[in-house]
Amino acid sequence: MSMIAMPIPDEGIIARKSEIVAALAAALPAEIIISDPEETRAYECDALTAYRCPPLAVVLPRTTEEVATAMRICHGLRVPVIPRGAGTSLAGGALPTADSVVIGTMRLREFLEIDTANRFIRVQTGVTNLSVSAELEAEGFFYAPDPSSQLACTIAGNIAMNSGGAHCLKYGVTINNLLGVRMVLSTGEIVELGGPLLGASGLDILALICGSEGQLAIVTEATLRILPKPEGARPILIGFDSAEIAGECVAQIIRSGVLPVAIEYMDEMCVRAVEAFAKAGYPNCAAVLIVEVEGSEAEIDDQTQRIRAIAAEFDPVEFRTSSNAAESLAIWKGRKSAFGAMGRLGDYLCLDGTVPVSMLPYTLKRIGELAKDYNLEVANVFHAGDGNMHPLILFNANRPGELERAEALGNDILRLCVDVGGCLSGEHGVGVEKRDLMATQFAPDDMAIQMEIKDAFDPEWLLNPAKVFPLDVSRPHRERGARCD
Ligand SMILES: Cc1cc2nc3c(=O)[nH]c(=O)nc-3n(C[C@H](O)[C@H](O)[C@H](O)COP(=O)(O)OP(=O)(O)OC[C@H]3O[C@@H](n4cnc5c(N)ncnc54)[C@H](O)[C@@H]3O)c2cc1C
Repeated sequence: MSMIAMPIPDEGIIARKSEIVAALAAALPAEIIISDPEETRAYECDALTAYRCPPLAVVLPRTTEEVATAMRICHGLRVPVIPRGAGTSLAGGALPTADSVVIGTMRLREFLEIDTANRFIRVQTGVTNLSVSAELEAEGFFYAPDPSSQLACTIAGNIAMNSGGAHCLKYGVTINNLLGVRMVLSTGEIVELGGPLLGASGLDILALICGSEGQLAIVTEATLRILPKPEGARPILIGFDSAEIAGECVAQIIRSGVLPVAIEYMDEMCVRAVEAFAKAGYPNCAAVLIVEVEGSEAEIDDQTQRIRAIAAEFDPVEFRTSSNAAESLAIWKGRKSAFGAMGRLGDYLCLDGTVPVSMLPYTLKRIGELAKDYNLEVANVFHAGDGNMHPLILFNANRPGELERAEALGNDILRLCVDVGGCLSGEHGVGVEKRDLMATQFAPDDMAIQMEIKDAFDPEWLLNPAKVFPLDVSRPHRERGARCD
């Protein structure tokens, strides 16, 4: 038995399935509606695969107007809606309930406008993260946020989760690179926020939408800030014989004022798994950092020297700089294949908590102690430069009770992140995974204000209603919403 509860589905809505599907089919092309249980099963989970539930139906629109029509019908019939991109959420953000309709935006795949003079690109939000930079390649520009899932995940999901990635240390996460959105409210009304120009007046509602986890609106178009590609970049690999010392080195690099584009951390278990899987040529040691610097040759050399001097204080077992493209690829190869490599070791839960960089050494030590207490193994691979940790808890789903033990350890690790001054999520969002831990970070009044914002956007609580807020805390809002006219 897993530990995360979902609300009891509304049997009244389930009983009306044919009426709901008929209403959708009357207003939308048949080929964008899926209601056969054999086919809705493909949408029963996201990357938090321990939790599954096929939805009532799925709609896969190709335009904002089709999204609006589907949303209007669901609103009229009071049916909960689960917005979905590529389904790579690790927090269960796109997990359906049996009484919900999934509205997937992955078929909204058009590139609408590229304006390098004004440094923006406008896209439909079903395009994948990686395809945005690919589209800009010939112009010499790129889109900075780079989640490890970037080959698959969509801009819609990135906006909903305020996603980050290795290069966000220097360039910021999605919110720092998002200029505007077109979106559909729960009533089906289409709204535009922000735009390509800086300095929009009025309340920054765009910032509310980014990171709102599909709870406020369905985002169908986005205007994204783009950046000229740097002249050059150089990854540096630094090996240490102690995990904590590697953490101290990260804190010292940040403290020194050098700002690399990325500082990535892998511990011994992760390095071993990566070596067995990708043969990246990493040293056999307790922790590896990959630090990437960029700029002109002179800037790269200067930053490399400064990082070399800092690392030397911590007695590294290896300090390797890349001198050509092939060596750079080899250094990144292991990090990029880390999740795949860990997957070969068995089932794992991927956590996502953030701690102050100065607390990394202590947090790493405590995670090791907690893992021992729970008799489970934890590998660490994460964006160390901004303190965004991703402990991977290994477990065997076929052994009774082990998922529950892994989840309990995960909860303790996330509580630790909050206790040392950090927070529950750096980039994966809350979804259902961390929903019941929200009270460790937010006081009841804080959560009340957040839920009042949801009340304002979605008074009926139809959009992704069982996520983010603990079910007992959100129940009065959800029940009041169900009675709304
Ligand atoms: C191997 C792996 C590595 C990963 N690495 C990273 C990483 O480095 N950094 C990182 O930040 N994340 C990472 N993730 C997590 C995940 O890829 C991100 O959260 C991503 O942004 C989800 O995008 P998606 O298109 O798959 O969205 P989904 O998983 O489909 O949905 C995610 C959330 O967005 C909402 N949503 C989807 N579409 C819309 C829409 N059109 N409008 C409003 N809300 C919507 C959903 O309701 C859900 O709450 C990783 C995942 C995996 C599996």
